[in-house]
Amino acid sequence: MINFGIDLGTTNSAIAKFEKGKVEVFRNPVSLKQTLPSVVAFRKNRIIVGDKAREYLEKDPKNVVGAFKRKMGTTDKYPIASLGESKSPTELSAYVLKELKNFVHTGEQVEAAVVTIPASFDTIQANATKQAGYEAGFEQVMLLQEPIAASLAYANKEDEAFEKGQWLVYDLGGGTFDVALVRIENGEMKVIDHEGDNFLGGTDFDKLIVENIVIPYLEKEGHFENLEKEMKSASGRYNKLYHILLKKTEEAKILLSNNDSAEIEFETEDDDGADIDGYLSISRSQFEALIRSEIQDTVDMVDAILSRNSIATKDLKYILMVGGSTYIPFVREFVGTELGISVNCNIDPTTAIAVGAAFYAGTKPKNIASTPSIKELQTPQLFIKTAFQKTSQDDEEYFIALTEGNIKGYFYRITRRDGGYDSGLKPLGNRVSEYLPLLKNAFNQFDFKAFDDKNNLIATNVDTIGITQGRYNVVGQPIPNDICLEVDDLESQQTVLEVIFEKNSILPTKRTLVKEVTKTIRKGSEERVTINVVEGPSYALPSANQTIGFISVSGKELTRDLVKGSDIEITLEMSESRDLMINVYLMLTDQEFENTFNPAERHVNINRLSEELFKLYDSINPEIQEAEQQENFEAAAELSTIKKEIRSLLMKAKRLTEDDVTDEKFQLEDQKRKLAQRIDNLTRDKHIIKIKMEYFQAKKLCAESIDYEEATDDDRKRFEYIISDEKAVLTTNSRLKIQEKIDQFYDLRIKILWRSPNFVMNLFYIYAARKDEFTNKKRGEELIKQGEEAIDNETWDKLRLIVNQLYSLFPKEIQQTIERGGTGIG
Ligand code: ADP
Ligand code: MG
Repeated sequence: MINFGIDLGTTNSAIAKFEKGKVEVFRNPVSLKQTLPSVVAFRKNRIIVGDKAREYLEKDPKNVVGAFKRKMGTTDKYPIASLGESKSPTELSAYVLKELKNFVHTGEQVEAAVVTIPASFDTIQANATKQAGYEAGFEQVMLLQEPIAASLAYANKEDEAFEKGQWLVYDLGGGTFDVALVRIENGEMKVIDHEGDNFLGGTDFDKLIVENIVIPYLEKEGHFENLEKEMKSASGRYNKLYHILLKKTEEAKILLSNNDSAEIEFETEDDDGADIDGYLSISRSQFEALIRSEIQDTVDMVDAILSRNSIATKDLKYILMVGGSTYIPFVREFVGTELGISVNCNIDPTTAIAVGAAFYAGTKPKNIASTPSIKELQTPQLFIKTAFQKTSQDDEEYFIALTEGNIKGYFYRITRRDGGYDSGLKPLGNRVSEYLPLLKNAFNQFDFKAFDDKNNLIATNVDTIGITQGRYNVVGQPIPNDICLEVDDLESQQTVLEVIFEKNSILPTKRTLVKEVTKTIRKGSEERVTINVVEGPSYALPSANQTIGFISVSGKELTRDLVKGSDIEITLEMSESRDLMINVYLMLTDQEFENTFNPAERHVNINRLSEELFKLYDSINPEIQEAEQQENFEAAAELSTIKKEIRSLLMKAKRLTEDDVTDEKFQLEDQKRKLAQRIDNLTRDKHIIKIKMEYFQAKKLCAESIDYEEATDDDRKRFEYIISDEKAVLTTNSRLKIQEKIDQFYDLRIKILWRSPNFVMNLFYIYAARKDEFTNKKRGEELIKQGEEAIDNETWDKLRLIVNQLYSLFPKEIQQTIERGGTGIG
């Protein structure tokens, strides 16, 4: 088993190990604390991680980095002055993981570990976390979402065995907030939904104290210009003071969890060099007033998740509190009274995640190359179908094996890896079954071996039989967002989005879909088919989504031309740890491209961000006007609010420089995405109604053509097929899915019409009338003459050919406009 569980936190990290049903949280051999601050300092040739590194933050802030988890998966790096180079969030996380390895006093090597991530982490962030694990020397890294880890810690601690129920996990740490809805049904624990903010946590509270209490105090006590700016910029005069103050305010904040007031003491000079002896007292109620709106935001997110899932608070067992900031009494009280749910503070909020991760690790087998199974060694000589439940709450599990072919005189034997069970050698029939006894609360591994009539071991396709026994079983991890394909249609300049994996589908998952190539790619050419993989709500505006990578096949890789309209089969597979594997098969060239997925890193470019904000800003005015015209004043008011928020984001973006070191641009990007989603939600209904009308129009036209004499039985079947899932498609309210149907209607209609000489003739005259627009006028004249001849001779196939050639003489822009309009069907 993997056994090791690691909480790689924004502020603090921890490592724990599962052994014989229990979990131990390892202590820092130096400070004896159970957590390690996720801070890295660079001192000459030394790298220091943890408490000592935090101390250097005051003395030498240019060589110390913390809170890098917030930039995980981005291209941003942290410049380290003494090294003269920069370190990526992934590299920095790897240092923290390596330091955690030193906590393990048992002398074991940590080869494999379960590492936790916030539920809101997207695929890029998840992959960056795994990468950090590999850089730290782990051979196997499994990811687990923090809310699940917390639930596992609680479920394993409390011995009340409940069969049914649901609850919320409220995790407010130093840098992130996550809330998840978790449910147990028939012993299976599942995350139903989640919500969160990657930029909300305890360090923000510390900043609020500095900004709203300490800075005003200083400005009163001494003479300062631009104090806040001189504090926050890395080269600012008061940057060092800022770090000292952040540490002191954090200490005061922690004291306030148990006391009514706390003091902050410090020394500084003002702009004129005058000494200031800083001394101020903060009361608990002052602090509570400061963080109130932040905590209200968390409550709003809880509300959102409940209403989205139509769940009343009375249907919840409790709200489970985790993360250091839930020590704050105000947080517990406010959340409890605002939501009317019982607040559960029964687990240690700072170690629960690591503990839960270790419990999970105790059920996950190590999968490291050094232990190959029989299956990997040889190609199978005997194919056997097996059936069994992979998880069980019983002490034994029923196992069936079905074998085909001649197995006369063959035997089989099943053994459990720990030696606790051996079926003995038994005759192998075409159908054999066994009850396999299971160890409690453990992952049970069995080996199935087959022998021929001479008692020689024969290779089969049967892999290890793995069965998890336990009261609670984590069913799998949900995807935080829709994952979609964006098919790049260069000819029509249109992008087609298609959901591959829906939000909250359980990993691992796999899908195969067939798409048509939208343009011809010549063998050996520079042209390419490019398909973007996008993460975000499938219905939303493009700017509300994020590209996570792309698949690209170039003409250079082709063995023959890839013709427009030919099929391309795409298989996408996402593992439990969110590795995305993409396999592309080109039917026409019979070529397979494996693993052609290139994960993109998140790079926020300030100029682009501003451009996108401008675009959003421009697009919102007509929407407001339209809402007002329709007397939908509520929507109009909300849109106006959004407009103001966009403007304020624009101002903030303007102030940022491209080399800004804070994480503000990522916050802006996040906020932009959320605003775009809100606009989309408010305006979607209107678009949906419009597209549904288009749908019925297209359906009507298509139904008409089905009655033409040119239509065949196959066409009628095709039509029935297109409308067979009409209800389901219309209720998705997905513009893209409905558009797909509309396109299918038009394609079918065209196919039928094209067989009719009259239709082709009409098209010919329409094109001929626009001969002035041909790119090659001389060729146009020739073709028109040939076409007239073809009409005289009634050689319709020839005419079809000519019409196609005429079409290709139009410039691209015109082709797009006449494609539908010209054929009289749009
Ligand atoms: P993360 O999950 O982000 O790594 P933690 O769950 O360890 O973070 O929480 C760290 C945050 O909790 C810090 O901002 C710290 O100041 C805060 N914190 C820890 N203990 C207390 C306390 N007793 N009262 C208030 N805040 C606390
Ligand atoms: Mg945490």
